Amino acid sequence: MHTPRTNSHDVLIAGAGPVGLFLACELRLAGCSVLILEQAQNPNTPLKELPFGLRGLSVPTIESLDRRDLLRPLQERAASRNTSAAAHWMQQQRRPAGHFAGIQFFHDQIDSTQWPYRLPTPISNVAADMASIEAVLAARAVKLGVKILRGYGVEDLKQSESGVTVFAAGEEFRGQWLVGCDGGRSAVRKLAGIAFTGTDPEFTGYSAQVKLADGCTLKPGRHYTATGMYNYAEPGTIGMVDFDGGAFHRRDPITREHIETVLRKISGTDVRVSALELATTWTDRAFQAKEYRKGLVLLAGDAAHVHSPLGGQGLNLGLGDAMNLGWKLAATIRGDAPANLLDSYERERHPVGAQVLDWSRAQVALMRPDRSSRALEAIIRDLIQTDDGATYFAGRVWGVEVRYDLGGVHPLVGRSAPDFELADGSRLNQHLRNGDGLFLDFDGSFRSFAACWEERIRYVASDAKNRLGLSALLIRPDGIVAWAFDGSGSDSEVVDRASTWFGNPDCL
Ligand SMILES: Cc1cc2nc3c(=O)[nH]c(=O)nc-3n(C[C@H](O)[C@H](O)[C@H](O)COP(=O)(O)OP(=O)(O)OC[C@H]3O[C@@H](n4cnc5c(N)ncnc54)[C@H](O)[C@@H]3O)c2cc1C
Repeated sequence: MHTPRTNSHDVLIAGAGPVGLFLACELRLAGCSVLILEQAQNPNTPLKELPFGLRGLSVPTIESLDRRDLLRPLQERAASRNTSAAAHWMQQQRRPAGHFAGIQFFHDQIDSTQWPYRLPTPISNVAADMASIEAVLAARAVKLGVKILRGYGVEDLKQSESGVTVFAAGEEFRGQWLVGCDGGRSAVRKLAGIAFTGTDPEFTGYSAQVKLADGCTLKPGRHYTATGMYNYAEPGTIGMVDFDGGAFHRRDPITREHIETVLRKISGTDVRVSALELATTWTDRAFQAKEYRKGLVLLAGDAAHVHSPLGGQGLNLGLGDAMNLGWKLAATIRGDAPANLLDSYERERHPVGAQVLDWSRAQVALMRPDRSSRALEAIIRDLIQTDDGATYFAGRVWGVEVRYDLGGVHPLVGRSAPDFELADGSRLNQHLRNGDGLFLDFDGSFRSFAACWEERIRYVASDAKNRLGLSALLIRPDGIVAWAFDGSGSDSEVVDRASTWFGNPDCL
């Protein structure tokens, strides 16, 4: 028998992983009431700590966190916990900038002049452990007034015209909207009847912390072999990929004997594992939700897309969903959203997700233990060592090539706004902290125009150290440029752009 909760919320979120927490912060910042229902009683697990909890953050993620003043607390917390990892990083002779199927490229090869609308930034290569990421986001969410109930796994839901009722841990909760941020096996996605399609796995991946028997040596580094791939970091951290069609994943308990058998097979050595301390498996299953919204139910993060962790993009992709969705859903709830604003969430984010899935599939193709893949790998290895090759891979891996198709004539439209340094020394990202849209007017010539959206768009008139040839920009709350003007031609497009994202003007 379900006991109805008296309190109802604008938005219920299933899942207090990084995506659910970040989305909750975005919605609260925009004034919505938010309740998160999280299945796990305790958020802490050893897999969220180093070494396996380490997550590389992409440029869009770093920018989003910086725009909400979450980057600084995250870096401080991660640095205080991960000093040995940071020291290891700093000691590298060449600073690694990322990898494709394990083939590394380096910072000194990257030609950032190929990205003319990116300003140099002191922030790059941010990595943090999942425990820190979740702790910082949860602390911010609670500070903003988000309610988090742990030990409440979503078991059922009902949609009506006026909202969604969710059943969890014997209780009933009401929300105007429900967002499933409940991970790859999302109950919300299944209960809402949203199809999930893609490609089946080719391998089982292993992350394991082991003790090797005395006298056993295993070559450190990443190695492709005739039977798969393994990566070894002393004294006992192992990653490996066994092309078994994903058969072992979640089928049987992971034992010391099994890890030893697979490691022997893949490394081609007679290595002996004397103890297994921690292990998990994963696959390269690449599936994506057909729709990101069904009625009043939305999906974000792994609930909307899963792929192998190769290249480390899943968290970044999910946080990008949250940044894109938050302000649009909030405007819809407040009732001041322009027509079809919420539809643009799926329109913009689904193609980005599909690209990331293909990027992970391409890496799997390169890792297959067959002769053709080894030949292809040799070619990619050559290409990645060229400056153009490294710059291409960095553009994809770092996420700097992401551009939404928003129409508009200027090449900056649809891209992340450059973090301009303004005349008073402040940076653009600091002016986006409260989650509003922003009109940045370098010459002060659009003051009267901007006044027509006064309640909805923040107006900042200031020169910048480097304007990148621009006179004015309209920036959405998620930091994406909706309109840019370089002073030539007509500026009349701005009325249409501002109305598209913020609604009709109060004057004009
Ligand atoms: C080994 C490994 C390495 C990775 N490395 C990287 C990397 O370097 N960079 C990167 O970007 N990504 C990486 N990823 C991927 C990244 O961790 C995920 O994409 C990210 O955690 C997804 O966040 P999420 O919030 O969508 O889902 P999750 O982190 O899965 O969180 C979902 C939450 O929902 C809860 N939940 C589940 N079911 C229910 C329910 N029915 N009701 C309520 N709550 C529920 C869960 O308990 C969980 O707290 C890696 C993944 C793995 C496995």
